[in-house]
Amino acid sequence: MDITMNAKNTVITFLNDHDNALLDFTRDLVATPSPMPPGNERAVAERIQGEFNRLRLGAAQVIAAKPDRPNLLLKLDGGQPGPTLIFNGHTDTKPAGNRDEWKHDPLDPVVENGKLYGLGSTDMKSGVAAMIYATAAVAQVSEQLAGQLHLLLVADEEGGSQLGAKFLAAEGYVSGDAILIGEPAGIRRELESIALDSRGICCFRIRVHGDQMHSSLSDEFNATNASVKAAGLITRFAQGFQRPNMTVNVGVTLQGGVYFGVIPGLAEFGCDLRVPPGSTEKGIRSEVEQWLAHQKQLDSKLRAEVVWQTPPSTWIDPVNFPHDHPLATALQQAASEILSDPPPIGCYPAATDAPWFAATGIPTIPAFGPGLLPLAHSPNECVEISSLFACARIYALAALRYLSDQT
Ligand SMILES: [Zn+2]
Repeated sequence: MDITMNAKNTVITFLNDHDNALLDFTRDLVATPSPMPPGNERAVAERIQGEFNRLRLGAAQVIAAKPDRPNLLLKLDGGQPGPTLIFNGHTDTKPAGNRDEWKHDPLDPVVENGKLYGLGSTDMKSGVAAMIYATAAVAQVSEQLAGQLHLLLVADEEGGSQLGAKFLAAEGYVSGDAILIGEPAGIRRELESIALDSRGICCFRIRVHGDQMHSSLSDEFNATNASVKAAGLITRFAQGFQRPNMTVNVGVTLQGGVYFGVIPGLAEFGCDLRVPPGSTEKGIRSEVEQWLAHQKQLDSKLRAEVVWQTPPSTWIDPVNFPHDHPLATALQQAASEILSDPPPIGCYPAATDAPWFAATGIPTIPAFGPGLLPLAHSPNECVEISSLFACARIYALAALRYLSDQT
C-alpha cells in the first residue's frame, strides 16, 4: 500500500483547519508551569490529556515512577500490520530564572511579530504540541496506515531523565522501530537542519598534587605548587586537546590551595567535552589518559591523575541515526514538501533523550522540531509560529510515509 494523495490531503486539510487550535493549545502548555527543578509535570499532563480527549484520540496511558512525574503514552493503531513510529518530547522546562530579564511574564505567553514568547516555547512545548496535532491529523486516516504511531511524552528531561526516558527505557515501556524527538532543530535559524546525529558528553576532573608546606620555604625546598601546575595543564589541555566537531571546555570547575601562607598541595579542575558521533567512552578516556601521560613525560615534577567519577554525567553516548533509514527518508521528503528551503542533515551539538532510547536498540532521531537551541533555558525564550505550524505538517506527512508500505 502506498501513501495516497487523498490521505495526504485529508491530513493537510485537518491541520489547515486547526492552526488556531494548535496555537491556542501551545499557549496553554506554556502557561501551565512544569519547571525542573522542582519537577512536577502533573498539571501539564492533565492539560495534554484534555487535548487528547478534545481531539478524539482517547486517553493516554500514564506511566509514572513518582505520582508528580507522569509520562504519557498514546497509541494510534493502523489498519494493517507494520512498523511502530514513536513521536517523543518532554513536558518539563528549566526554571524561568531572573524574571527581570524577561520582557513578558514567562508564564503568560505573548504573540509578537509572528513569535510566541514564554517559558518552554522553544524547549519544547511547541514541539510537543506540533506532535500532538500531527497525531490527531494522522488519526483521520489511521485505517490506511500499516503499523502504529505512538506519542511518548516524558517528564524529567531537564533533570537528567531518571524519572522520564531512562526510567521508561529501563522498565521496558519503550518499544517500537524508530523514534523522532521534536527538540528545537535550529542553532542560527529555525528548522536549520534535520539532526540525525548528536554529540555525546564526557566529563571528568584532573587532580594535581603539590608539596603543601610553609610558603616561606618554597625557594629553599623548590616546592611544587599544585595550583601553578594545574594552571599550566588547563592552558595546555584547552590548546592541545582539540578534535574536529568536539567542544573542549576546561576549568568548568576549579579548586586549589588552602590559604595564604601555604603552598598548595592539591588543585583540581573539571573538563566538559562534547564528543562527536562515533566516539566511544573507552576511546576518549584513553586519549585523555595518554595526553596526561605525555604531559608527565614533558615535566618530571608533574603529579596528576584523571578522576572519572564526576556526577551527574561522566559519559553520555553520542547518537548515530542510520542516514539511509526509511524514517530519515520520510522526514526529509516531508520537510521538502512543506518548507521552501529544505533543511540538510546535521549533527545536534547537545544531548537529548535520544541516547537512552537508542540504548534499547531503537534508532532515534535526536532533534527535529520548532525553535532555536540558543533560546532554550534563556530569558525571552520564543518560537516562530510558522515553524510550529510547519512541524505539525512535516511530522504528519513523515508518519504517513513511514507507516505506508515500505517495500
Ligand atoms: Zn529540550
